Amino acid sequence: MSTLAVVPDVDTSAAEAEIADLKQRIALIACGTRPGKTQACAQHQKEADKLLRIGSTGAVDALAAAICGSEHRRSCPPCVAKAVAIIGVYNEGAE
Ligand SMILES: [Zn+2]
Ligand SMILES: [Zn+2]
Repeated sequence: MSTLAVVPDVDTSAAEAEIADLKQRIALIACGTRPGKTQACAQHQKEADKLLRIGSTGAVDALAAAICGSEHRRSCPPCVAKAVAIIGVYNEGAE
């Protein structure tokens, strides 16, 4: 359902807007979604860059560990679920 045309000169502002949107969604998933919540906290917005980069590799384990934070040695099931959701969002956006 992408409306992006394949052109030699990439419209960088459109691409940037799309990435910004993707990062918003990723940050919100990492932060935790709940009804009425539309924005991630500042902390997770800051991490969106990193999460997007890890998400682009499709590595669920690495992403879950990044979401969980450094104080956890192993990623926990909720964070694995978030990682899967983020990779799903990423793949959707990449199409
Ligand atoms: Zn947060
Ligand atoms: Zn966790």
